Amino acid sequence: MKIEYVNFGIGYRLGNKILINKVLKKYPELHDYVLQHELGHTEGMSIKDIKHDLSFKNQLKILGLSIRHPSFLWSSSPIIIYNKKIHINLSAIIFWIIGITIGLLLVYGASYYISWIESQPIKAWP
Ligand SMILES: [Zn+2]
Repeated sequence: MKIEYVNFGIGYRLGNKILINKVLKKYPELHDYVLQHELGHTEGMSIKDIKHDLSFKNQLKILGLSIRHPSFLWSSSPIIIYNKKIHINLSAIIFWIIGITIGLLLVYGASYYISWIESQPIKAWP
């Protein structure tokens, strides 16, 4: 397994190569967690990998550090450009679909609830 330090995202598994954001060298604990996580991926992209990404436990820590290190935010990009080649980031796409679906459900749920409240007859106070 080859590890290469890059200046974008958090960690990626591309075949038998692992890309890690060089900023993570400043956070040894998080670096080791990300490295272990990437080692847990398969070389391709399968349902197993998406499940593996959903189990990533340091999301909040990373999100907090993104304020200081905005390059982490590239991990949510649906594509990665590495060595002049475009790689699809399937997990990010799944996350976006889940996020947008939850957002739409909340908006529709709220507007349905509001129209239901408005359709109720006004009762006098007892
Ligand atoms: Zn992953």
